[in-house]
Amino acid sequence: MFTDGRSRRVALVAHCFLNQNAISDGTAIRPAAVREVTDTLLDAQVGILQMPCPELCCLGLDRGDADGGRREVTVENTRIRRAMEQPEAAEKLDRLVEHVAEQVLQYRRHGFEVVAVIGANRSPCCGVDTTSDRDREVAGRGVFMERLARRLRQERIDIPMVGLKDGGDMREIIRRLL
Ligand code: SF4
Repeated sequence: MFTDGRSRRVALVAHCFLNQNAISDGTAIRPAAVREVTDTLLDAQVGILQMPCPELCCLGLDRGDADGGRREVTVENTRIRRAMEQPEAAEKLDRLVEHVAEQVLQYRRHGFEVVAVIGANRSPCCGVDTTSDRDREVAGRGVFMERLARRLRQERIDIPMVGLKDGGDMREIIRRLL
């Protein structure tokens, strides 16, 4: 099965690397997408599974800005993290995690390679190596990535998780995974 033209290789990518319009007000620095991420994966014939944006889905597009000129970025990051931990948002978050996990299970069941989960470091939701809490970027995972990692562990699925941040060598970090 599936011996057609497809590569049978897929990467899970944080939503905003493909769609900067989802980012909270005041933080997008690219008009549309982060080409270092998309081009590197596509050049390697790896399909891109765009994960949902947890903040957009749980808190809405207008969830507060992070523009230091209007509000303090640190306050926003703390507020977003706390908001995501409220029962209604947390329930939605679990559904999003399940939606992603189900797709991973399908690919694995049919012998596809899920090469990586690529998150956005410093994000309160999608950070992998670092996240934000209180007034600092701290080591640890965002709330979505933490739940996704736990869900994949339940299924005994081990997929490398990496976090990227603008300014880092994103192409090289991705190439090392492929
Ligand atoms: S890092 Fe995650 S929560 Fe934040 S905008 Fe990107 S996809 Fe949405």
